[in-house]
Amino acid sequence: MQKIVALCKRRGFIYPGSEIYGGLAGTWDYGPLGTELKRNIKNQWWKDMVQLREDIVGLDAAIMMNPKTWEASGHVEAFTDPLVECKKCHKRFRADKLDVAEKCIEGNSQHEFTEARKFNLLVKAYLGVLEEKQSEIYLRGEITQGVHVNFKNVLDSTRVRIPFGIAQIGKAFRNEITPGNFTFRSREFEQMENQFYIEPKEKEGEKWFEYWKKMRMDWYLKLGIKKENLRFRDHEEHERAHYARAACDIEYNSPFGWSEFEGIHNRGDWDLSRHEQYSGQSMKYRDPDSGDEYLPWVIETSGGVDRAALFFLIDAYSEKDGKVILKLHPKLAPFKAAVFPLLANKPELVKKAKEIYLDLKKDFMVVWDDRGNIGGRYASQDEIGTPFCITVDFQSLEDEMVTVRDRDSAKQDRVKIVDLRKYLDDKIT
Ligand code: ATP
Repeated sequence: MQKIVALCKRRGFIYPGSEIYGGLAGTWDYGPLGTELKRNIKNQWWKDMVQLREDIVGLDAAIMMNPKTWEASGHVEAFTDPLVECKKCHKRFRADKLDVAEKCIEGNSQHEFTEARKFNLLVKAYLGVLEEKQSEIYLRGEITQGVHVNFKNVLDSTRVRIPFGIAQIGKAFRNEITPGNFTFRSREFEQMENQFYIEPKEKEGEKWFEYWKKMRMDWYLKLGIKKENLRFRDHEEHERAHYARAACDIEYNSPFGWSEFEGIHNRGDWDLSRHEQYSGQSMKYRDPDSGDEYLPWVIETSGGVDRAALFFLIDAYSEKDGKVILKLHPKLAPFKAAVFPLLANKPELVKKAKEIYLDLKKDFMVVWDDRGNIGGRYASQDEIGTPFCITVDFQSLEDEMVTVRDRDSAKQDRVKIVDLRKYLDDKIT
């Protein structure tokens, strides 16, 4: 983990939030490379979940919602973690995730805990221009409710028919008792979710629950996470969230143990029925063929963008002869290729390489490097996961070909400059 955290800071993937002011616990800022990685994860998710499907549409709801939403969803009452405090050092912990090995700093002894009490994770904010008239709202604790409150809007403005999904990516906020393990547990984070509406029948519920479990697991495998590092974990009845009829996590074998990557839940009609009750508006779906009216059930897939970025980084990290190679899937790598002139002091090589670089830039995230020697440039690109390095040499000026070096095999291909775009396209998309 220390190596990953150091690499992220050194190469501009992830920095501690508000670092120059001493930081803010549980917040992180993504640097130039981390921003690209995260964007690639989200774009790929959107492509696979919305663009390539005929039964899912997208949505982008507001972060700030009428506070009634959170009463209806059960978050005001039940979105809690058990909090305990050490009577000696006054440090606070989440009772269900205690690290038994951790000692109390007071006398290097065991902690002495208070009784657990429920601690609500919703983050409060104040809205309004007049201080005395400000109203208290919550920053959304999950992006889910923005979808459910718009269920009727989507039905009325599109041609969706059950079964169908509404997908969304966006920020969520939680007053986590113990943020930690780098970005794994943050107080501000991004989620990518699909709320998939189905007929309210046990058999349908089971069918779509299994379907989405498999789809989501296959997605991570397709993007290169090692099979042995992924597993399903069904929730026991007592640990299921207040809304869930069935729940299963996809877990990742991280340096800090098997940890939740994404949750798949059968939410039944919990959300729509509660919004119907609290808003007084019908949330029912009318089947256009039979005319039957009902409240659909929901199968939800809810993944964290930040957890995905972290686990893709951890899984891709490798070392060879003391050097780091980040074997990120080309679709996720921040840069798809680096372009170099063999020698930085030969204007004819620089000119040719710059032309190629500027041309490829129109379609791909590519990076320029003319510092040091070729070996050093390869190492620098390997460390940030760039899958291809393109070198313009003296021969290129005569035969209009360049050397393309592959990150993982270190194999070199000679490729025509006019074919470069197709070469990269074939390997990346
Ligand atoms: P945990 O048990 O780890 O607290 P959770 O079960 O509360 O997580 P969900 O409410 O199911 O998590 O949220 C769905 C997804 O959102 C999680 O699988 C995770 O990827 C992401 N997520 C949740 N909380 C955080 C957080 N504090 N920081 C980063 N990502 C998070």
